[in-house]
Amino acid sequence: MRPLVAGNWKMNGLGASLAEIEAVSNAVNGAEEGPETLICPPATLVARAATKAAGRIAIGGQDCRAEPSGAYTGDISAEMLKDAGASYVIVGHSERRQYHHETDRTVAAKARAAWRAGLSAIICVGETEAERDAGKAFAVVAEQIRASVPAEAEGGRTAVAYEPVWAIGTGRTPTNDEIAQMHAHIRNVLGDALGLQGREIRILYGGSVKPANARDILALPEVAGALVGGASLKARDFLEIVRAAPRKS
Ligand code: PEP
Repeated sequence: MRPLVAGNWKMNGLGASLAEIEAVSNAVNGAEEGPETLICPPATLVARAATKAAGRIAIGGQDCRAEPSGAYTGDISAEMLKDAGASYVIVGHSERRQYHHETDRTVAAKARAAWRAGLSAIICVGETEAERDAGKAFAVVAEQIRASVPAEAEGGRTAVAYEPVWAIGTGRTPTNDEIAQMHAHIRNVLGDALGLQGREIRILYGGSVKPANARDILALPEVAGALVGGASLKARDFLEIVRAAPRKS
């Protein structure tokens, strides 16, 4: 399984930041032996980022609305992202679930919208600190997967990102054993829910991945890549993470 290293710029980045995308694209240059590399800048930069990337890395959106078009002021459809040059979209990021009250049902609808438009979907799941402390992390993540990953999910167009909410942007990460255990659990839940297709879906880890911990995390079983926030904003850090990804068969 070829790993996927994806950067999520969140609400960061102006035109000048395209130089970072250019630097990553030039360094990666579509190398087949490395991981698939993706940057998801804010929507305002997607089209220019896709031009800069010139197919050497993938460009994605950070969210989409489920409907293809209509009276939804300020929203962006999957078709619009595709038209702007995106090939991926992140759906169900915990910041969307928290600040926009997105439910698993909404997230599933957005994943289907991504596929309808010809995009791959990265579907995010992860427990809060309170849920982990209460011993509910495995149950919470299983339920999120069952309800936010549609039955039509296929490996070629779907990744699941396990992002413990308490690890996002905090500099804290679960132990490597905890990550490995949760990824094994997610693989089982995907297998139970989707059968054979569930085995082909890449499971990414996200939450304070940085150059210093990327190699160890990316080498864990069932970790087929990373979703990187803060450390994806600078080409130098992001490239270190990209280079830390092993080639997995
Ligand atoms: C994220 O935004 O998905 C994320 C994992 O952020 P960070 O790497 O900054 O924790």
